[in-house]
Amino acid sequence: MFLTISTSGTAAFPATDLGFLLHKHPDKAQKFSTSYGTAHVFYPEADAQRCTAALLLEVDTVALVRRGKGKGRGGAPDAALAQYVNDRPYAASSLLAVALSGVFSSALRGVCNARPERAAAPLPLRIEVPALPARGGPDLVRQLFEPLGWAVTADPVALDTEFPGWGDSRYVRLVLESEKLTLAEALRHLYVLLPVLDDAKHYWVSSDEVDKLLRAGDGWLPGHPEQKLITSRYLSRRWSLTRQAMERLELVRLAEADDSEVESIDNAVEEESEAEEKPTPLAVQRREAILAALRASGAARVLDLGCGQGQLVQELLKDVRFSEVVGVDVSVRALTIASRRLKLDRMGERQAARVKLFQGSLAYTDNRLKGYDAAVLSEVIEHLDLPRLPALEYAVFGHARPRTVLVTTPNVEYNVRWETLPAGHVRHGDHRFEWTREEFRTWSATIAERYGYEVEFAPVGPDDPEVGPPTQMALFHRNDTEKEAKAA
Ligand code: SAH
Repeated sequence: MFLTISTSGTAAFPATDLGFLLHKHPDKAQKFSTSYGTAHVFYPEADAQRCTAALLLEVDTVALVRRGKGKGRGGAPDAALAQYVNDRPYAASSLLAVALSGVFSSALRGVCNARPERAAAPLPLRIEVPALPARGGPDLVRQLFEPLGWAVTADPVALDTEFPGWGDSRYVRLVLESEKLTLAEALRHLYVLLPVLDDAKHYWVSSDEVDKLLRAGDGWLPGHPEQKLITSRYLSRRWSLTRQAMERLELVRLAEADDSEVESIDNAVEEESEAEEKPTPLAVQRREAILAALRASGAARVLDLGCGQGQLVQELLKDVRFSEVVGVDVSVRALTIASRRLKLDRMGERQAARVKLFQGSLAYTDNRLKGYDAAVLSEVIEHLDLPRLPALEYAVFGHARPRTVLVTTPNVEYNVRWETLPAGHVRHGDHRFEWTREEFRTWSATIAERYGYEVEFAPVGPDDPEVGPPTQMALFHRNDTEKEAKAA
């Protein structure tokens, strides 16, 4: 199986820069071994005007059979034969996608130290895949690639050119052309969409495939008109994984819409009042209250769940008593900003060992969240639809079970005091609900009861005699902590 990637040169850049971007020298033919055979990279043409890189995967059919994964498609009756007679060696499939990500891993991530400005810029690209299994036909091929900015040619391949009467095979010759995409984007499209079109993965799809899909789909999959089909096929139609991925994609999309469109009213109000009397912004007061409560709890290893752009993580790192700080968010975009804010790439080794950021959805249990002293949910719960909230409650209080959990959320009663907030409006476009003090207390008490925690409450911001404080905070402490300490 085979694909080629071509580019043309411009006055400023020779086409052979493609070699830098792919991290493969145009003058050399190179070989890489993969679990299913040998991948060859070579350049059929390479000069200043045109440069073409070819990736050829020579599939080791014996290795495929040994691993029992060469079945291709076909029901049980012919499975034995299908192990030996199948399209795997010839057609672009998940095997080619895996080889692509292995051989061009830096290019896929857009990393190019030699030509960083080239890696970040769109370039004229032509990609050809001579035999692409296209389940769904040429129309589906177009529906998948066209929304991403590709001009698509998908010509059906005749079953046998000697016998035109036999009609077309289910393979197409695919040519993609664009001047709008970076090489990394192009490779990530192929990495996801080749196996989607083949619709038969050569390996068992486990839950880490969801992470792979979201990573490779970053920037183009959320909001793709065929998002559902792509997700479901990529995950081998495993329903629970598909649902999980769809949910996370939706949250990413919302978070992005949120970031770009809605300036938080919360912040707008703060800015305005700041001009008058320069009070400490509410967000800062919130972080101070959280830090004080964490210090009082004696926590050393802390989770910031829904960490957003990492402001609290940054504050926590300034205090050495917090030996490990983990920021988790569903939004890749927020995490990217957080990592820039923290200068993670330039951090010294010791400091870097204290901090982790990772993507995850709080609507699902996650073993990575187990074993911490404390977890913070600062202004997060109101971003979940109410019916999804019990899932977060279980994931945090039932599954991760840190000793201390701090939850803050707006107090809706206070909204009448925000002069710029129209009556009946929530403070932020993405808030699914805002609670009164009573509602928050009832919710907190129910959780405490259900999961074995004690709960107390604290105001954040000026505690208005009538309507209470702008932010309300619940401090949960696990009941069995003392028993555990004795046992240990
Ligand atoms: N904790 C920060 C950010 C609050 S904004 C602060 O106090 O300033 C809410 C954050 O929760 C957003 O970054 C959003 O991406 C994240 N979020 C929303 N739903 C989530 C979910 N299901 N899992 C993880 N993070 C989520």
